[in-house]
Amino acid sequence: MATIVEALSCPLNVKVVLLRLKYLCYIIPNFLFIRGITMISKKMAEALKGGSEIRKMFEEGGRLKAIYGADNVYDFSIGNPDLEPPKEVFDALKDLANNPTPGMHGYMPNAGYPSTRQIVAEKRGKEAGMEIGPDAVCMTVGAASAMNDVLHSILDADDEVILLAPYFMEYNGYVANHNGKVVIVQTDDKFMPVIADIEKAITSKTKAIIVNSPNNPSGVVYPAELLTQLNDMLKKQDHTIYVISDEPYIDLAYDGAEVPCALKYIDNLIICFSWSKSLSLPGERIGYTLVSPKCADFAELTGAIVLSNRTLGSVNAPAIWQKVIEKAIYAKVDVANYENRRNLLYSNIVDAGFDAVKPNGALYIFMNTPEGLTDEEFAKICAKQNLLLVKGSSFARPGYCRLAFCVSEASIRNSRKAFFAVAEELGLSHRTEL
Ligand code: PLP
Repeated sequence: MATIVEALSCPLNVKVVLLRLKYLCYIIPNFLFIRGITMISKKMAEALKGGSEIRKMFEEGGRLKAIYGADNVYDFSIGNPDLEPPKEVFDALKDLANNPTPGMHGYMPNAGYPSTRQIVAEKRGKEAGMEIGPDAVCMTVGAASAMNDVLHSILDADDEVILLAPYFMEYNGYVANHNGKVVIVQTDDKFMPVIADIEKAITSKTKAIIVNSPNNPSGVVYPAELLTQLNDMLKKQDHTIYVISDEPYIDLAYDGAEVPCALKYIDNLIICFSWSKSLSLPGERIGYTLVSPKCADFAELTGAIVLSNRTLGSVNAPAIWQKVIEKAIYAKVDVANYENRRNLLYSNIVDAGFDAVKPNGALYIFMNTPEGLTDEEFAKICAKQNLLLVKGSSFARPGYCRLAFCVSEASIRNSRKAFFAVAEELGLSHRTEL
């Protein structure tokens, strides 16, 4: 702006006035925002103050990489899958581009193409050993949109949603979007939910509980018995409580671990799924909701979810990606590659002298913060060695830090010396040699 004003061919005093105006344009909005006098909603003004810890670390990673070079910064802050999508995805895309059909870019039913919903229902029905029709499925713009559709459909103002900590912090925003209230229940020291603690948190306002297995950030997989116990406990309550199963990591399990199919064990179940991780397509925004045929108010609930999909602004999931999914639904990214990286990163952590629960799934290790330090202090010490991780408080579980292993194998290997250097600084003894 200053350069534009300077370039203008007008008298000097006019230029001075214009520059002062420019200054006021910056100052007034900032002043109003700081004083709380802003035209945006109070809810959003409050949310803006918080920001995202993960995003902040991601930006810090960019800054450090510019100074030290990408190979010398070990950025485990963000869970952005770095594997390419499998060949089936590219084949399907090429096929669609080479064989266009009239109307393939047009509007469609808000729930998505009937043929895509049919294929999703068949796959999930086979896994669960039950009959599931396409009416159970609504194609969505990823899991984030799926969760918003569901919460919009079930929450009245001040209804409560139980979250099991540590949990994906975006849930707070999703619940707030629909005027619900978050109720946090901590899991045990292996990050497993404790049914009695969940039961204690239930009130007449409880509408839903969100479960996420394999879990972000802990990587743990909930066993089938736990899901059965959860179902039994919920069925004893005097009103319906939905279980929202957030499943973006369901295809990422390691050491031969099977992720139990929640549909088999929980009756009032609503699945929110996305191909962001299974097919490495987070930027393409494709997922679905699936309501169990055993779910209370099945017809109303599925109808409400489709209406929410429309009125919240997605209208329908991306047309091309629904068609790709039809062709590539049984494909998966190279899970063995992630398993190898998990092993390497886990070894770095424990060999250097730190503790962590070895995750069976997802893309994260949730390591313990060494005794005597807060997670924030520990993250700062790590950052001095260009080791970027996200503090556990960002997942409602202080005392831990999350590391995402969906980064290059070279970066994980190179980071080993940084873990050892941090351990030395803290006086911890290494478990093996560097
Ligand atoms: N749920 C969890 C636990 C996640 O980790 C993520 C993304 O990282 C999402 C939901 C959102 O997934 P999507 O990209 O499909 O919206």
